[in-house]
This record gives sequence, structure tokens and C-alpha cells, in this order.
Amino acid sequence: MPPKSLLAIFAHPDDESFCAGGALATLAAAGTRVDLLCLTRGEAGSVAPALLKAAGVQSVAELRTNELERACELLGVQPPLWLTYQDSGFHRPSKFPRRLVDAHGRSVSEQIAGVIATLEPEVLMTFDPHGFYGHPDHIATHHAALQAWFTSGHFPRPPERLYYPIPSAAMIERFRSAGFGDLEPQRRALTETKVAVRVDASPVIEQKRAAILAHASQSGAGSGIDRLLPELRLETTSSLLTEELYTLGATRLGVAEWPFEGF
Ligand SMILES: [Zn+2]
Repeated sequence: MPPKSLLAIFAHPDDESFCAGGALATLAAAGTRVDLLCLTRGEAGSVAPALLKAAGVQSVAELRTNELERACELLGVQPPLWLTYQDSGFHRPSKFPRRLVDAHGRSVSEQIAGVIATLEPEVLMTFDPHGFYGHPDHIATHHAALQAWFTSGHFPRPPERLYYPIPSAAMIERFRSAGFGDLEPQRRALTETKVAVRVDASPVIEQKRAAILAHASQSGAGSGIDRLLPELRLETTSSLLTEELYTLGATRLGVAEWPFEGF
């Protein structure tokens, strides 16, 4: 049976669709209440000035806020919730005053715990310790969300399980070939035995594809997402799009089966 509710905690608009769009859409369609907490507005993403003008917005933060709201609609999940940190940048560090990587970890985790206390999700999802592909904001999100998981143990109804989306071996190879980060599989030691839940996103692939493309400022021709997943623009159902893997970060219950049938 699908969980009653899930809270996904990610760093930037587009993380949810790129890393977990298939699972989030599948769960929402099955009746799970799916909420998303996004810690920054992704304001360090490179965006052509013409795109801002065409969208009638003043800033990258505003544009990417709108894009995430649309992506959530397409995935069938609740409208996004936000914290007020700023994107720290990846290949080029940003210079914003409230960068997530500069934030006090406990302050971030306490705000996340506050959202958990309000929503009482049955299941949490966030980045793995390596941040999917190593973005420092993803790693900061992992640490803060994991702290919040522990804090929530004192709540009347704490979440029961915590999951991390992890890239498949094929996706790691694609990251490497696209020049996208430092992703030796042996350092991350992601093996088949670590997979707790395997999601076949085929039934919701058009929703996932549309949600990623809703982040138009980040998925246009020549963008990072375009280099990583050119399959998005083709009528394919490549396993790079349809196969999503999740590992178990923590549980408060026993594990009766491995791998799991669902979340
Ligand atoms: Zn990200």
C-alpha cells in the first residue's frame, strides 16, 4: 500500500523532477499526499536575460519559483513550500548573502523539522550523503534533513522511513560523459544491493518529462539538463528516464523484506 503522505526535501527547483519525478508522480496518482520543501530558489542557475523578459519577471528566483510551481502541478503534487536560503552555485560558487552552504546547519534543520511537525508525513525523501551528483547545496540539504529526521523522533507522529534517490550506474556514466561532476561509482559504492525501492516511471513518463521541461530556464538547448538527458527531447522511453532507484536512509520500524515493493 502506498504511504499516506510523503515530504520531499530538495535544494533547488528541478531537483524534484530530475531526481525523483517518476516516484513523486506515481505516488501522487496512487493517493499519497506529496509535499515538496525547496530550500532555495535556484537563483545561481544561469538564465538568458531574454528568458526573464519573455516571462515578465525581474529575477531568476522569481522565474524558477514559477517553474517549480508549474512542475508540481504537472507531477500532481502539492504546491511547493520554501525556505529562504539562496543557491550556493556548483561549478562557479555564487556570492549571495544567504547561501545555503553558509547557513547554520542547526537553523536549517530546525526549520525542516517545523515543516515535518506541521505536515506529519509518513515518509521523508531527501538527498543521499553525496548529494546525487555532489552539488554542495544537495549535501547541505542532506545533512539538515537527516538532523530533522532525528529531531522528529520526539514528535507525536514521526515519519517512519527516510529515502534517498540514487543515480543508477548508467546515470553515473552519463554524468561523467557529460562532464558533470566527480562521480566515481566506487567512491559512492552504490550497488544493486543498496536499492530499497526500484521505480519504473514508464506509466508516468510523460508527466515526468513535462515536469523537467517546465524548468525551461534550466533545460533549454545547451543547458546542463539538456547535456545530461538529451532523451528528454526525443520520443524515447530510455531507462535513463524511466528507471529511478531509492535507498533507505533510515527507518523507525523493522524491515520485513528487502528490497521493498514500494515506499
Ligand atoms: Zn539541485
